[in-house]
Amino acid sequence: MRVVVTGGAGFLGSHFCERLIAQGHEVVCFDNLLTGREENLASLRREPRFSFERRDVSDPWSVAGPVGAVAHLASPASPADYSAYPIETLRAGSAGTYHALELAQAKRARFLLASTSEVYGDPEEHPQREEYWGRVNPIGLRACYDEAKRFAEALASTYRRLRAVSVRIARIFNTYGPRMRGNDGRVIPTLVDQALNGQGLTLYGDGSQTRSFCYVSDLIAGLDRLLALAELEGALAPPVNLGNPEEITILELAERVRALLPAAGPLTFLPLPADDPKRRRPDISRARALLGWAPSVGLDEGLPATVAYFRGAAAAA
Ligand code: UDP
Repeated sequence: MRVVVTGGAGFLGSHFCERLIAQGHEVVCFDNLLTGREENLASLRREPRFSFERRDVSDPWSVAGPVGAVAHLASPASPADYSAYPIETLRAGSAGTYHALELAQAKRARFLLASTSEVYGDPEEHPQREEYWGRVNPIGLRACYDEAKRFAEALASTYRRLRAVSVRIARIFNTYGPRMRGNDGRVIPTLVDQALNGQGLTLYGDGSQTRSFCYVSDLIAGLDRLLALAELEGALAPPVNLGNPEEITILELAERVRALLPAAGPLTFLPLPADDPKRRRPDISRARALLGWAPSVGLDEGLPATVAYFRGAAAAA
Protein backbone atom coordinates (compact mmCIF):
# COMPACT_ATOMS: atom_id res chain seq x y z
CA MET A 1 0.00 0.00 0.00
CA ARG A 2 1.12 3.58 -0.65
CA VAL A 3 0.59 5.60 2.53
CA VAL A 4 0.71 9.39 2.88
CA VAL A 5 1.87 10.44 6.34
CA THR A 6 1.51 14.10 7.32
CA GLY A 7 3.73 15.19 10.19
CA GLY A 8 6.02 12.29 9.34
CA ALA A 9 9.16 13.99 10.67
CA GLY A 10 7.69 14.40 14.13
CA PHE A 11 8.07 12.24 17.22
CA LEU A 12 5.20 9.84 16.46
CA GLY A 13 5.21 10.40 12.70
CA SER A 14 8.79 9.27 12.22
CA HIS A 15 8.26 6.08 14.23
CA PHE A 16 5.09 5.42 12.27
CA CYS A 17 6.87 5.91 8.91
CA GLU A 18 9.57 3.45 9.99
CA ARG A 19 6.97 0.89 10.93
CA LEU A 20 5.11 1.23 7.63
CA ILE A 21 8.35 0.85 5.67
CA ALA A 22 9.31 -2.22 7.73
CA GLN A 23 5.97 -3.76 6.75
CA GLY A 24 6.72 -3.27 3.06
CA HIS A 25 4.53 -0.23 2.39
CA GLU A 26 5.54 2.79 0.35
CA VAL A 27 5.50 6.04 2.35
CA VAL A 28 5.04 9.59 1.11
CA CYS A 29 5.96 11.80 4.05
CA PHE A 30 5.17 15.50 4.46
CA ASP A 31 6.24 17.80 7.25
CA ASN A 32 6.75 21.56 7.48
CA LEU A 33 9.48 20.96 10.11
CA LEU A 34 7.91 23.48 12.49
CA THR A 35 8.24 21.06 15.40
CA GLY A 36 9.37 17.98 13.46
CA ARG A 37 13.01 17.33 12.56
CA GLU A 38 14.48 15.88 9.41
CA GLU A 39 17.06 13.98 11.48
CA ASN A 40 14.17 11.87 12.84
CA LEU A 41 14.03 10.35 9.35
CA ALA A 42 17.75 9.50 9.20
CA SER A 43 17.12 5.73 9.11
CA LEU A 44 14.80 6.14 6.08
CA ARG A 45 16.90 8.46 3.94
CA ARG A 46 18.24 5.75 1.64
CA GLU A 47 15.04 3.73 1.53
CA PRO A 48 13.64 3.70 -2.04
CA ARG A 49 10.05 3.18 -0.84
CA PHE A 50 10.25 6.34 1.27
CA SER A 51 10.03 9.95 0.14
CA PHE A 52 10.06 13.15 2.16
CA GLU A 53 8.93 16.60 1.12
CA ARG A 54 8.94 19.71 3.25
CA ARG A 55 5.38 20.97 2.91
CA ASP A 56 2.79 22.68 5.04
CA VAL A 57 -0.34 20.53 4.77
CA SER A 58 -2.48 23.45 5.96
CA ASP A 59 -1.98 24.95 2.48
CA PRO A 60 -3.66 23.21 -0.49
CA TRP A 61 -1.84 20.07 -1.68
CA SER A 62 -2.41 16.82 -3.43
CA VAL A 63 -0.56 13.67 -4.42
CA ALA A 64 -0.35 12.12 -7.88
CA GLY A 65 -0.92 8.41 -8.35
CA PRO A 66 -2.62 5.83 -6.20
CA VAL A 67 -2.86 6.24 -2.41
CA GLY A 68 -4.13 3.48 -0.12
CA ALA A 69 -4.16 5.42 3.13
CA VAL A 70 -3.72 8.93 4.49
CA ALA A 71 -2.48 9.24 8.07
CA HIS A 72 -2.87 12.81 9.34
CA LEU A 73 -0.43 13.30 12.18
CA ALA A 74 0.70 16.84 11.43
CA SER A 75 0.33 19.22 14.38
CA PRO A 76 2.37 20.73 17.17
CA ALA A 77 1.49 18.42 20.07
CA SER A 78 3.11 19.64 23.27
CA PRO A 79 1.53 22.42 25.33
CA ALA A 80 4.70 24.50 24.95
CA ASP A 81 4.73 24.01 21.17
CA TYR A 82 1.08 24.71 20.55
CA SER A 83 1.20 27.76 22.82
CA ALA A 84 4.13 29.02 20.74
CA TYR A 85 2.31 28.24 17.46
CA PRO A 86 -1.42 28.54 18.20
CA ILE A 87 -2.53 29.69 14.74
CA GLU A 88 -0.45 26.99 13.02
CA THR A 89 -2.00 24.43 15.39
CA LEU A 90 -5.54 25.57 14.61
CA ARG A 91 -4.75 25.44 10.89
CA ALA A 92 -3.20 21.96 11.05
CA GLY A 93 -6.31 20.61 12.77
CA SER A 94 -8.75 22.42 10.48
CA ALA A 95 -7.34 23.18 7.00
CA GLY A 96 -4.76 20.40 7.29
CA THR A 97 -7.40 17.83 8.15
CA TYR A 98 -9.64 19.11 5.34
CA HIS A 99 -6.91 18.70 2.71
CA ALA A 100 -5.98 15.26 4.00
CA LEU A 101 -9.63 14.14 3.95
CA GLU A 102 -10.14 15.50 0.44
CA LEU A 103 -7.17 13.44 -0.71
CA ALA A 104 -8.50 10.33 1.03
CA GLN A 105 -11.89 10.81 -0.62
CA ALA A 106 -10.40 11.40 -4.09
CA LYS A 107 -8.17 8.32 -3.83
CA ARG A 108 -10.75 6.14 -2.02
CA ALA A 109 -8.09 5.73 0.64
CA ARG A 110 -8.40 4.94 4.32
CA PHE A 111 -8.02 7.93 6.61
CA LEU A 112 -6.38 7.84 10.02
CA LEU A 113 -6.63 10.87 12.28
CA ALA A 114 -4.19 11.33 15.15
CA SER A 115 -6.55 12.86 17.69
CA THR A 116 -5.84 13.29 21.35
CA SER A 117 -6.96 12.73 24.93
CA GLU A 118 -7.10 16.54 25.04
CA VAL A 119 -10.56 16.28 23.45
CA TYR A 120 -11.65 15.27 26.98
CA GLY A 121 -10.21 18.51 28.40
CA ASP A 122 -10.04 18.60 32.21
CA PRO A 123 -12.34 15.59 32.59
CA GLU A 124 -15.08 15.01 35.20
CA GLU A 125 -15.13 11.34 34.23
CA HIS A 126 -12.33 9.00 35.22
CA PRO A 127 -10.93 6.99 33.53
CA GLN A 128 -11.94 8.49 30.20
CA ARG A 129 -14.11 6.34 27.91
CA GLU A 130 -14.68 7.26 24.28
CA GLU A 131 -18.35 8.00 25.04
CA TYR A 132 -17.34 10.91 27.27
CA TRP A 133 -17.80 14.27 25.48
CA GLY A 134 -15.19 16.12 27.46
CA ARG A 135 -14.81 19.41 29.29
CA VAL A 136 -12.80 21.86 27.21
CA ASN A 137 -12.49 25.61 27.70
CA PRO A 138 -13.06 26.87 24.13
CA ILE A 139 -11.29 30.18 24.73
CA GLY A 140 -8.50 28.95 27.01
CA LEU A 141 -4.79 28.63 26.33
CA ARG A 142 -5.07 24.97 25.34
CA ALA A 143 -8.06 25.57 23.07
CA CYS A 144 -5.93 25.99 19.93
CA TYR A 145 -5.00 22.32 20.22
CA ASP A 146 -8.05 20.83 21.92
CA GLU A 147 -10.62 22.52 19.72
CA ALA A 148 -8.61 21.99 16.54
CA LYS A 149 -8.58 18.26 17.26
CA ARG A 150 -12.26 18.28 18.19
CA PHE A 151 -12.99 20.04 14.90
CA ALA A 152 -10.80 17.50 13.09
CA GLU A 153 -12.85 14.67 14.62
CA ALA A 154 -16.09 16.39 13.57
CA LEU A 155 -14.80 16.90 10.03
CA ALA A 156 -13.53 13.34 9.71
CA SER A 157 -16.80 11.92 11.07
CA THR A 158 -18.72 14.03 8.55
CA TYR A 159 -16.58 12.76 5.66
CA ARG A 160 -17.29 9.26 6.83
CA ARG A 161 -21.04 9.86 7.11
CA LEU A 162 -21.60 11.85 3.92
CA ARG A 163 -18.74 10.83 1.67
CA ALA A 164 -18.10 7.25 2.77
CA VAL A 165 -14.43 7.85 3.60
CA SER A 166 -13.12 4.97 5.70
CA VAL A 167 -12.18 7.04 8.74
CA ARG A 168 -10.34 5.88 11.86
CA ILE A 169 -9.79 8.18 14.83
CA ALA A 170 -7.10 7.48 17.41
CA ARG A 171 -7.34 9.45 20.65
CA ILE A 172 -3.74 9.41 21.69
CA PHE A 173 -2.92 9.77 25.39
CA ASN A 174 0.45 10.95 26.75
CA THR A 175 3.19 9.14 24.88
CA TYR A 176 6.95 9.27 25.41
CA GLY A 177 10.17 7.79 24.14
CA PRO A 178 13.11 8.41 21.81
CA ARG A 179 12.92 11.42 19.42
CA MET A 180 11.02 13.72 21.73
CA ARG A 181 12.84 17.04 21.82
CA GLY A 182 14.45 17.84 25.16
CA ASN A 183 12.96 21.32 24.89
CA ASP A 184 9.45 20.36 23.75
CA GLY A 185 8.13 21.23 27.20
CA ARG A 186 6.43 17.92 27.91
CA VAL A 187 7.05 16.52 31.32
CA ILE A 188 9.16 13.42 30.57
CA PRO A 189 11.70 14.98 28.19
CA THR A 190 11.85 18.07 30.41
CA LEU A 191 12.56 16.15 33.63
CA VAL A 192 15.04 13.80 31.95
CA ASP A 193 16.85 16.69 30.30
CA GLN A 194 16.99 18.61 33.59
CA ALA A 195 18.21 15.56 35.52
CA LEU A 196 20.92 14.80 32.96
CA ASN A 197 22.17 18.37 33.34
CA GLY A 198 22.06 18.28 37.14
CA GLN A 199 19.35 20.92 37.19
CA GLY A 200 16.32 21.13 39.48
CA LEU A 201 13.20 19.25 38.38
CA THR A 202 10.35 21.63 37.59
CA LEU A 203 6.97 20.54 38.90
CA TYR A 204 3.91 22.56 38.00
CA GLY A 205 1.45 22.94 40.85
CA ASP A 206 1.98 20.52 43.75
CA GLY A 207 2.66 17.59 41.41
CA SER A 208 -0.50 15.76 42.52
CA GLN A 209 -2.00 15.87 39.00
CA THR A 210 -1.86 12.52 37.23
CA ARG A 211 -1.07 11.30 33.74
CA SER A 212 -0.76 7.82 32.21
CA PHE A 213 2.28 7.40 30.00
CA CYS A 214 2.47 5.11 26.98
CA TYR A 215 5.79 4.07 25.47
CA VAL A 216 6.10 5.00 21.81
CA SER A 217 6.47 1.45 20.42
CA ASP A 218 3.16 0.44 22.02
CA LEU A 219 1.41 3.50 20.65
CA ILE A 220 2.72 2.89 17.14
CA ALA A 221 1.52 -0.72 17.29
CA GLY A 222 -1.94 0.59 18.18
CA LEU A 223 -1.99 3.08 15.30
CA ASP A 224 -0.86 0.34 12.97
CA ARG A 225 -3.67 -1.99 14.01
CA LEU A 226 -6.25 0.77 13.66
CA LEU A 227 -5.10 1.56 10.13
CA ALA A 228 -4.96 -2.14 9.20
CA LEU A 229 -8.50 -2.86 10.40
CA ALA A 230 -10.55 -3.89 7.36
CA GLU A 231 -13.62 -1.76 8.09
CA LEU A 232 -15.17 -0.25 11.15
CA GLU A 233 -18.72 -1.13 12.08
CA GLY A 234 -21.54 1.36 12.04
CA ALA A 235 -22.22 4.67 10.36
CA LEU A 236 -19.90 6.56 12.68
CA ALA A 237 -16.33 5.39 13.02
CA PRO A 238 -15.87 5.06 16.73
CA PRO A 239 -12.85 6.89 18.06
CA VAL A 240 -10.42 4.63 19.86
CA ASN A 241 -8.40 5.55 22.94
CA LEU A 242 -4.75 4.56 22.63
CA GLY A 243 -2.66 4.91 25.76
CA ASN A 244 -1.31 3.11 28.77
CA PRO A 245 -3.67 2.99 31.76
CA GLU A 246 -0.71 2.97 34.21
CA GLU A 247 -1.53 6.24 36.03
CA ILE A 248 0.93 8.12 38.23
CA THR A 249 1.21 11.55 39.80
CA ILE A 250 3.73 13.95 38.32
CA LEU A 251 5.49 13.98 41.71
CA GLU A 252 5.92 10.19 41.56
CA LEU A 253 7.17 10.56 38.00
CA ALA A 254 9.85 13.04 39.14
CA GLU A 255 10.90 10.54 41.81
CA ARG A 256 11.18 7.79 39.18
CA VAL A 257 13.39 10.06 37.07
CA ARG A 258 15.56 10.88 40.09
CA ALA A 259 15.91 7.16 40.91
CA LEU A 260 17.43 6.69 37.43
CA LEU A 261 19.44 9.93 37.45
CA PRO A 262 20.45 10.69 41.07
CA ALA A 263 22.44 13.77 40.03
CA ALA A 264 19.14 15.60 39.45
CA GLY A 265 18.77 18.84 41.38
CA PRO A 266 15.99 19.56 43.89
CA LEU A 267 12.30 19.74 43.05
CA THR A 268 11.31 23.24 41.97
CA PHE A 269 7.60 24.00 42.25
CA LEU A 270 6.17 26.40 39.67
CA PRO A 271 2.60 27.64 39.13
CA LEU A 272 0.21 25.21 37.47
CA PRO A 273 -0.58 26.35 33.89
CA ALA A 274 -4.20 27.38 33.18
CA ASP A 275 -6.61 24.55 32.34
CA ASP A 276 -4.02 21.86 33.13
CA PRO A 277 -6.05 18.62 33.45
CA LYS A 278 -5.97 17.20 37.00
CA ARG A 279 -6.33 13.54 36.13
CA ARG A 280 -5.98 11.54 32.97
CA ARG A 281 -6.16 7.82 32.34
CA PRO A 282 -7.51 6.02 29.28
CA ASP A 283 -10.15 3.35 29.40
CA ILE A 284 -8.79 1.09 26.66
CA SER A 285 -11.59 -1.51 26.59
CA ARG A 286 -12.50 -0.52 23.05
CA ALA A 287 -8.93 -0.82 21.76
CA ARG A 288 -8.65 -4.23 23.40
CA ALA A 289 -11.93 -5.45 21.88
CA LEU A 290 -11.63 -3.87 18.42
CA LEU A 291 -7.90 -4.13 17.83
CA GLY A 292 -6.78 -6.83 20.28
CA TRP A 293 -4.31 -4.20 21.44
CA ALA A 294 -2.91 -3.34 24.86
CA PRO A 295 0.38 -1.72 25.79
CA SER A 296 3.15 -3.98 27.05
CA VAL A 297 5.96 -1.56 28.02
CA GLY A 298 5.68 -0.04 31.49
CA LEU A 299 7.53 2.99 32.83
CA ASP A 300 10.00 0.59 34.51
CA GLU A 301 11.21 -0.33 31.01
CA GLY A 302 10.30 2.71 28.93
CA LEU A 303 11.80 5.36 31.18
CA PRO A 304 15.33 3.86 31.19
CA ALA A 305 15.12 3.48 27.40
CA THR A 306 14.16 7.13 27.11
CA VAL A 307 16.97 8.20 29.43
CA ALA A 308 19.41 6.20 27.28
CA TYR A 309 18.18 8.05 24.18
CA PHE A 310 18.61 11.47 25.80
CA ARG A 311 22.08 10.52 27.06
CA GLY A 312 23.05 9.53 23.51
CA ALA A 313 21.56 12.73 22.06
CA ALA A 314 23.49 14.83 24.60
CA ALA A 315 26.73 12.97 23.80
CA ALA A 316 26.21 13.48 20.06
CA ALA A 317 25.49 17.22 20.42
N1 UDP B 1 4.57 19.36 33.99
C1 UDP B 1 5.40 19.58 35.07
N2 UDP B 1 6.68 20.03 34.83
C2 UDP B 1 7.16 20.24 33.58
C3 UDP B 1 6.31 20.00 32.47
C4 UDP B 1 5.02 19.57 32.72
O1 UDP B 1 5.02 19.40 36.24
O2 UDP B 1 8.32 20.65 33.45
C5 UDP B 1 3.21 18.86 34.24
C6 UDP B 1 2.10 19.58 33.49
O3 UDP B 1 1.64 20.70 34.22
C7 UDP B 1 1.05 18.49 33.39
C8 UDP B 1 1.86 17.20 33.29
O4 UDP B 1 3.16 17.53 33.79
O5 UDP B 1 0.25 18.44 34.54
C9 UDP B 1 1.99 16.68 31.88
O6 UDP B 1 2.39 17.76 31.06
P1 UDP B 1 2.77 17.56 29.54
O7 UDP B 1 3.14 18.91 29.03
O8 UDP B 1 3.78 16.48 29.40
O9 UDP B 1 1.47 17.03 28.81
P2 UDP B 1 -0.11 17.30 28.95
O10 UDP B 1 -0.65 16.03 29.46
O11 UDP B 1 -0.36 18.41 29.92
O12 UDP B 1 -0.53 17.62 27.59
